[in-house]
Amino acid sequence: MPYNWTNELWRILASLVLALLIGWMVGQITLALLLVITVWFASYFIRLVRLDRWLRFDRKQEPPHSTGLWGETFTGIYRLQQRARKRNKRLIKTLNRFRETTAALPDGVVLLREEGEIEWWNAEATRLLQLKYPQDVGLRLANLLRHPAMAAFWQDDAQDEPITINSPYNDAIRISLRRVEYGNNQTLVIIRDVTLIEQLQQMRRDFVANISHELRTPLTVLSGYLESLVEDETVDQQLHHTLEVMQQQTRRMQQLTEDLMLLSRFEHSREPGEKVVVNVPQMLSRLKEQARILGGEREHTILLEADPTLYLWGEPRELDSIFTNLVVNAVNYTPGSGAIRIRWHEDDTGAHFEVNDTGIGIAPRHIPRLTERFYRVDVDRSRHSGGSGLGLAIVKHAMQRNRGSLRIDSEVGQGSTFICDFPPELVRHPDEQGRGTRDEGRGGKTAS
Ligand code: ADP
Repeated sequence: MPYNWTNELWRILASLVLALLIGWMVGQITLALLLVITVWFASYFIRLVRLDRWLRFDRKQEPPHSTGLWGETFTGIYRLQQRARKRNKRLIKTLNRFRETTAALPDGVVLLREEGEIEWWNAEATRLLQLKYPQDVGLRLANLLRHPAMAAFWQDDAQDEPITINSPYNDAIRISLRRVEYGNNQTLVIIRDVTLIEQLQQMRRDFVANISHELRTPLTVLSGYLESLVEDETVDQQLHHTLEVMQQQTRRMQQLTEDLMLLSRFEHSREPGEKVVVNVPQMLSRLKEQARILGGEREHTILLEADPTLYLWGEPRELDSIFTNLVVNAVNYTPGSGAIRIRWHEDDTGAHFEVNDTGIGIAPRHIPRLTERFYRVDVDRSRHSGGSGLGLAIVKHAMQRNRGSLRIDSEVGQGSTFICDFPPELVRHPDEQGRGTRDEGRGGKTAS
């Protein structure tokens, strides 16, 4: 029991004992006790009224003066109030600082309530979404941004996926929106003007596509002439060798322009071309033969383990490009008498294409960057083997378009393994052909 309670109790007991004593002396015990109780009750009531008035009207003033337990109670309440006031002030300061900071951000910021209604926004959001204060407070953002792509934006798992749409007020402005959940079901939407970035990307894409396209015809003509000159038996030995080198380099340039055009095509549309059921095992046995020819005198041991009943729903040229690039790399980066193992198999997680070699391997620091365009571990070696540094970039894009992903595992001097994982919904088996399920991909055309 706190000290003041005991004090108060002792005081009450002492006054009762005193009243009893005086009452006994004057022969009026009941009256004396009643008198003391009335005095105590009156004093409690007066202090209660003072507390009530202070709380109601003068909270900002010091509390009314009082002694004993009442004094303690007044001071306690006063201290609590002071603390709450300080905390409020700090909160308001933090809130103001937050608003000033977000207002100064170059990106638009919109705070949403639990149900998706707009609560607050900054100056950039006013510009990008033409929001008006106070009319638009409480408006649902989903009603303002009516775009088919927005359906995916509101899905629970779409937090890290920014989406890009036209500004609802100006088609010339492209905005990217990103959702961030915080606190108690609160949402923050970050809006960025990406018009300029998109224009620059488009210019770069157009430039690469146009230049590759323009180079294609002269290179075809050049290669045609070189081919007939190389085959011409009247050409002397020295010149013949020069012509062969020229033909080889022209082929490299042709390959480069083809690769660049393919990448531009991938960037132009995210969806793959027309999909069919692809006879992958057949595609791989042809590829194995090509790899053997490409390896030439190095005489690699090439093993193919392919499930003959495992087909895939995909775009045949893109799949061929994926498989070819990985197998050609294995051949190019595996020294003579090395082994290359190609596997095509299925498990619960889907279908997997795996190329394993006993080649030169890749140091761990290079692995995350291998799928970047023109990234080569050893530029000279790669050039020597006819590589452009675009192969794995093509593989990555083609895999994404076919809803798959690429894994790379390698050790310097030991070899490398490249695995392409395709989701189970793309898996087909020949005996399912023409069965006619609801999936548009089941049955239909077959390619290899
Ligand atoms: P490139 O046309 O140069 O082969 P890629 O994009 O196909 O370009 O590959 C990028 C780089 O990754 C290559 O330059 C090479 O250094 C490395 N690489 C790819 N595949 C292998 C492999 N099987 N073994 C060792 N290194 C490889």
